[in-house]
Amino acid sequence: KTVTADDIRKSVKENNVHFLRLSFTDINGTLKAVEVPISQLDKVLTNDIRFDGSSIDGFVRIEESDMVLYPDFSSWMVLPWTDKTGSRIGRLTCSVHKTNGEPFEGDPRNNLKRVLKEMKEMGFSDFDIGFEAEFHLFKLDEDGNWTTEVPDRASYFDMTSSDEGAECRRDIVETLESIGFEVEAAHHEVGAGQQEIDFRFDDALTTADRVQTFKMVVRQVARKHGLFATFMAKPIEGEAGNGMHNNMSLFKDGKNAFYSKDGEYHLSDTALYFLNGILEHARAITAIANPTVNSYKRLIPGFEAPVYISWATKNRSPLVRIPDAEEINTRLEMRSADPTANPYLLLAACLTAGLQGIKEKKMPMDPITSNVFEMTEEERAKRGIKPLPSTLHNAIKAFKADELIQSALGEHLTQSFIDSKNLEWAQYNQSVSDWERNRYMGY
Ligand code: GLU
Ligand code: MG
Ligand code: MG
Repeated sequence: KTVTADDIRKSVKENNVHFLRLSFTDINGTLKAVEVPISQLDKVLTNDIRFDGSSIDGFVRIEESDMVLYPDFSSWMVLPWTDKTGSRIGRLTCSVHKTNGEPFEGDPRNNLKRVLKEMKEMGFSDFDIGFEAEFHLFKLDEDGNWTTEVPDRASYFDMTSSDEGAECRRDIVETLESIGFEVEAAHHEVGAGQQEIDFRFDDALTTADRVQTFKMVVRQVARKHGLFATFMAKPIEGEAGNGMHNNMSLFKDGKNAFYSKDGEYHLSDTALYFLNGILEHARAITAIANPTVNSYKRLIPGFEAPVYISWATKNRSPLVRIPDAEEINTRLEMRSADPTANPYLLLAACLTAGLQGIKEKKMPMDPITSNVFEMTEEERAKRGIKPLPSTLHNAIKAFKADELIQSALGEHLTQSFIDSKNLEWAQYNQSVSDWERNRYMGY
């Protein structure tokens, strides 16, 4: 699996690569890139490509704006499409470093590496993650702008093979496979125009890198089909929203530390402690798992998205579900996250909460066996089931009150995150929507 500088040189020649794209992720989870011509290959491979970090959201205060890109060789790929002139582009995922060579603490990817190191110090080898990212495909208009018109009228698992949505989905799957993804499932989701494509779980850093590539591929291939792909959490009111279920397990000595043959639900104590950590910090994690104003329009009853902090083995209504699985696949499925979450920050927060749970060795509340939405308020209160934050504003408040989850991001990212979200909330508060005009114009 190790890729060397020579492997990359060879691939550049074989594929006639003309440009190198060096990508990294900003605080909002947006993929950013610096692109250089192939003449700069030596510089790329020796960590010598610089850029101005002050123009990246959440990166730097002006005084330390020069940043350096350290590519992760194992992420090398030749993009499965060419630009209009036919040039091929090579792509490397990078970590951002300071000019003195130290990892830059405002880079979400570096931060996840830091938290993974803490996990290793506790004796675990891997934090394995499987994401299930849902998205919508909408038609483009003549000018190439998105519309809210869907290319199909299908629903969950429908197989109307002739529709444009299904064709596009198959093309996405094949494109992903051509760049080494192991796609395990691809199907139409509940909402009109809604799709889901799942690729095989892997360690946290690899999966976070992959989901960034995944989104890029989905968007690019959709355009080719005259469609617009969106990962926004709730594109259409009254319809299903887009989740990004986060399936988590910890490995130790080559074994899944969440599995126990004799444990209740086949879960080990480690899994239950980890689960308790997630539940206890769920409100603060929500700021990261559901980081947009729109995210909270998905976290409502009636659309298979969670609203209450609870867990279950089968039922899909709570925050965490334990999908039926044996040994290697034993996992916790956190159902709140949506695909607008920055995957590096999300995994750093979940891992930190879970590891804290393992340190504290506290058992979680009893699992629920009925639909939480159907319980009365008193019933939920009696069981200690609290709601998730109802708005971005409330989630940020919960984040600001939770020192552990702030430590999962570190000082720099915590501050940038709060600043960026406060601004977003203030802008939203000043906006006047169609809903308001429709409701109040006659007053
Ligand atoms: N679309 C649902 C959500 O918003 C999830 C559906 C599913 O269980 O896959 O989370
Ligand atoms: Mg789904
Ligand atoms: Mg799921």
